[in-house]
Amino acid sequence: MALALAVSACGGQPDEPGDGAVVTDPDTAPATPEDAATEEAGAASGDGAEATGEDAEGATEAAADLPDPAEVGANELGQIPVLMYHRLLPGGGGDYDLTADEFRGELQYLYDHGYRPVRMADVAAGTIDLPAGTSPVVLTFDDSTREQFALDEQGEVDPETKVGILEAFGSRHDDWDATAASFYVITSSLFGGGQGSEQLLTALAERGYEIGNHTHTHRNLGQASAQEVQEELATTSRMVEELTGQPTTTLSLPFGVRPQDPALAGAGEADGHRYEHTAVLLVGSGPALSPFDADFEPLGVPRIRSSPSWDGGEPDYGSAFWLQVFEDHPDRRYVSDGDPATISFPAELEDQLDPAHAERANPY
Ligand SMILES: [Zn+2]
Repeated sequence: MALALAVSACGGQPDEPGDGAVVTDPDTAPATPEDAATEEAGAASGDGAEATGEDAEGATEAAADLPDPAEVGANELGQIPVLMYHRLLPGGGGDYDLTADEFRGELQYLYDHGYRPVRMADVAAGTIDLPAGTSPVVLTFDDSTREQFALDEQGEVDPETKVGILEAFGSRHDDWDATAASFYVITSSLFGGGQGSEQLLTALAERGYEIGNHTHTHRNLGQASAQEVQEELATTSRMVEELTGQPTTTLSLPFGVRPQDPALAGAGEADGHRYEHTAVLLVGSGPALSPFDADFEPLGVPRIRSSPSWDGGEPDYGSAFWLQVFEDHPDRRYVSDGDPATISFPAELEDQLDPAHAERANPY
């Protein structure tokens, strides 16, 4: 019962302005074309392209075999959609939940439009390794509900679960890594609870999925003491480590609400267990900045609510809306150069680069 309450609360306030996350999102990801500063200037000159080839050779030998960044429109300072999924329900169900067909349809859209999945931990670490010309998308699943992952008596994945749908999709598309997805679990309520639920978490990690922290009891951390915040996060991190061999390295905040001391989302300690999160996800309504952008805030990464049913009218700031923004303004989108060691982007974006990554930079 606690879970049902927690989940419905989680799904109940998608766009309430009270929750910090939503307010900041329009800044992070402006909706208007005027804000997209770059235009096609990036593809402007052949001179720039030649210079890039030389730079790339200096930076890494592997780059010699890769296409010219200008030719593939590489922009590793572009924005990344971090999609937020909750439940799968036969009737869909409002702002947060999808039908299985809607979920399949969104995966197909992403594939057809050149997106490829990456784990949140890899975005945070700046280790996005995708073919040249493709764009990262992060698929995140909150609340460890039963219809996200289940095994039958033979140990086969239930094909009607999120994981079943992801893996069926991956098996039909060689260049789509189905396990590049991030599950944010509530450790007091794993996949429906009950017998075997902890083993399900172990099995999910063994298949290759990222397991992230979503607190032990889905507590609103904005209303918890510093001690309670650390107990919630340390308990989940420790349980995940015990069940999977790896502590959590990224966190999705219940309700998108940060602790009163936001730094405690990133790191803390309780009962002898220290947790450290390289990324903290909000419940948001806009794309995330590139991890190489000087303004990237790892402790407040906005997400996009999956909402494929947008009718093209008033913006709902869900996935269909934002994916259309990227179609209309491809210059805003993160596009890989194919070499995880270099960071390629149109030279006029240079001021946007986080100086910490300057030695990997490959402006063209
Ligand atoms: Zn939640």
